[in-house]
Amino acid sequence: MINLVEQCKDAKRIGITGHTNPDGDCVGSVLVLWQFLKKALPDATVEVLLEKPAPIFHVLKGISEIIFDTDGTGQYDIMIVADSIPERTGIAQPYVESAKKVINIDHHISNPGSGDVNEIDPVSSSTAELIYEIITNEPEQKALMDEEMAKAIYVGIIHDSGVMQYSNTSPKTLRIVAELIAFGFDFPKLIDETFYEKTYIQSQIMGRAILEAFPMLGGKCMISMVSRKTMDFYGAEKQDLSGIVNQLRIIKGVKAAVFMYEIGTMQYKVSLRSNTDKVDVAKVAACFGGGGHVRAAGCTMEGSFHDVVNNLIRQLAPMMEELE
Ligand code: 5GP
Ligand code: MN
Repeated sequence: MINLVEQCKDAKRIGITGHTNPDGDCVGSVLVLWQFLKKALPDATVEVLLEKPAPIFHVLKGISEIIFDTDGTGQYDIMIVADSIPERTGIAQPYVESAKKVINIDHHISNPGSGDVNEIDPVSSSTAELIYEIITNEPEQKALMDEEMAKAIYVGIIHDSGVMQYSNTSPKTLRIVAELIAFGFDFPKLIDETFYEKTYIQSQIMGRAILEAFPMLGGKCMISMVSRKTMDFYGAEKQDLSGIVNQLRIIKGVKAAVFMYEIGTMQYKVSLRSNTDKVDVAKVAACFGGGGHVRAAGCTMEGSFHDVVNNLIRQLAPMMEELE
């Protein structure tokens, strides 16, 4: 397992980033890394470069320090890419490319490890869980853990494991969670505020998406789409659509859920969820240039809505046939 302080100790300027559309694991991971490295290496400049996270994450320390407006100039001695491949870092991409060293920490099975230093563990529920292990692997680094860092890791874990519910939750995840809540933060509040709570608009658009969802493959696949027009009508941003795909997934009889929203003319951001390892949505997403996990993946697709649905169904159908 990498020794983060050892890897970063000679760097004057360290940048930290994650993927575009940053989710809870991504935000928690970059913020705990930021907090940790600032404590461990007080003489270094440590900065987070990330697309603006959803307002729900404002409860985490360091969120207001995130740089999301960059001009692409300047260079970092080290760029740490968390919860993502180095190629999907959006606004941080030029800095990842020009950095003297790239450290990639991730738990996506689709990540081949293209950094200069890689710590990829597909068995971890979340990148945040993996970061906790990296930090606590060294006693003097573990001693730097504090309540705010524990909160950031906890948010990462609950978001990627569906509050310790999805199949990526392991006994190890729960042991780590036990150590985290011992720091004493108000975890039920953190779960409600960052995971379950929805604004009125978010609830309305979710209702609309469920209302318009349609089954395919004999009900084993549930599909829904939110158009640009609908998003404009509700004044919704892409961040307001998270959680819809999980709601489609728990409709009785559904093995795979597909949710997409329009990002441009004939262009859709697609989220895929599966209820069984036999339906590998990471494989489906990879067919269209995306990636993710066996049970949660995503990609961007082009074409009319019908074309996109047909192309996805063509990939999903043979996997469904293998089910009883
Ligand atoms: P979501 O559906 O929540 O956006 O993403 C589900 C999972 O798939 C996450 O782990 C996310 O990082 C991954 N993912 C989503 N979209 C893409 C994509 O376009 N490319 C890759 N490589 N991974 C994606
Ligand atoms: Mn993750």
